[in-house]
Amino acid sequence: MTHILIVGGGYVGMYTAIRLQRKLRAGEARVTVVDPQPNMTYQPFLPEAAAGSIEPRHVVVPLRRVLPKCTVVTGKVTSVDHERKIATVVPAEGLPTSMPYDILVMAAGSVSRTLPIPGLAESGIGFATVGEAIYLRNHVLSRLDVASSTPERKERALTFVVVGGGYAGVEVFGELEDMARYALRVHKGLSAADMKWVLVEAADRILPEVSPVMSDYTIRRLTDRGMQVRLNTKLVSMAGGRVELSDGTCFEADTVVWTAGVKANPLAMRSGMPIDFRGRLICTETLQARGLQGVWGAGDSAAVPDLTGLGALCTPSAQHAVRQAKVLADNIIATLRGGKIKPYKHKHVGSVASLGLHKGVAQVYGIRLRGWPAWLMHRAYHWSRVPTAGRKLRVLVDWLTVLLSRREIVSLGQIQDPRRDWEVVVRETTHSLKGNTRTQ
Ligand SMILES: Cc1cc2nc3c(=O)[nH]c(=O)nc-3n(C[C@H](O)[C@H](O)[C@H](O)COP(=O)(O)OP(=O)(O)OC[C@H]3O[C@@H](n4cnc5c(N)ncnc54)[C@H](O)[C@@H]3O)c2cc1C
Repeated sequence: MTHILIVGGGYVGMYTAIRLQRKLRAGEARVTVVDPQPNMTYQPFLPEAAAGSIEPRHVVVPLRRVLPKCTVVTGKVTSVDHERKIATVVPAEGLPTSMPYDILVMAAGSVSRTLPIPGLAESGIGFATVGEAIYLRNHVLSRLDVASSTPERKERALTFVVVGGGYAGVEVFGELEDMARYALRVHKGLSAADMKWVLVEAADRILPEVSPVMSDYTIRRLTDRGMQVRLNTKLVSMAGGRVELSDGTCFEADTVVWTAGVKANPLAMRSGMPIDFRGRLICTETLQARGLQGVWGAGDSAAVPDLTGLGALCTPSAQHAVRQAKVLADNIIATLRGGKIKPYKHKHVGSVASLGLHKGVAQVYGIRLRGWPAWLMHRAYHWSRVPTAGRKLRVLVDWLTVLLSRREIVSLGQIQDPRRDWEVVVRETTHSLKGNTRTQ
């Protein structure tokens, strides 16, 4: 039986597999999905998960539940030898294995584009996974506790920096500030004026997905809240928690979130496949890897021509990833049955972004929305897109809960390091027992 191997269970991987399992006839092919995570993450909801409007578990979809007819392997594809049609898979635990395939779908998405900035690896954090969203929520709330309890640490604890003004950066900036402002209500002696929120962007504007008018509007809305947006500025250093910007500004901060762009997953490059200058697998408009029989690609890790003429290549977005997955699955089935394959063509309809509870900016089909209407549009659009009816219900219940009761401001900082207290207790007991034995 033909073996279809899908590398990555994100947007492209999961939607391709769902469509294949629905459309393949019995005995026609078997499908394996390999991903280091057992879940697909609905990334556009991560800022709301970080802000506590959505329970983090509800922004991920368990792959094994939605793919009952596929084999799901929790592991990482570390290289592909396409001449021999063998992928090397390193499982979550255990030894690397060789996985033969007939058809390969490259859908490993993107990784953060970072720079060798002093202190970034030790003290910065990215924002692309549910783990990072949970960490940031707990971390920001814990900084308010520190500022309340240790006045000499207040300034540093209440300084928050986000680097990168794309939708991920702007949304996490707006949502986290909104949550922190709300949480401050229970901190006697602290006010919003004590907080310093700085968005650092190297270009001369933020949100390149919307028009300059909407980008300027977003900056005004953020600065009206007392937040700083520094354009044409770069992070130079953050060694020891001391943030240094290219405009000469220096200050201390406990929190630096890095969202300054993404680059293609290096798997295609490592496997000697044809890649473009950004490391993306070069694909044709029918989503086949150029010059490689039986290899397909889509999403953030693929360079796919944009046939609508909006740009030379499709931009890395969920919008393209979901639609490309549909065409990709149909084209694989067409090749198995000797049918005709179709090109991918979709006009990017626009962008929606949330800037906190009841605040947003949107530009869809050329229509510009601001404030409440944009925020509602953001929620309606993403709610309609989040996979499975079960997730939709859970997200709706989360929103209603926040609407009807108050926002949850519990900081579960302990979950970042749950064994610490345990290890201290065990060490102390061992130590005192040794001491007792010696005195006897
Ligand atoms: C915070 C945030 C907000 C966003 N908001 C929006 C938005 O509002 N609108 C929008 O259009 N887009 C948005 N995006 C972008 C969008 O999420 C991506 O464009 C989309 O996820 C790309 O889909 P993909 O399938 O290519 O990659 P992904 O969905 O990232 O999937 C890649 C998968 O591959 C897996 N993988 C990685 N390496 C390996 C390996 N070696 N072996 C096996 N598996 C591997 C990963 O674990 C992951 O599950 C946002 C992104 C972020 C981070």
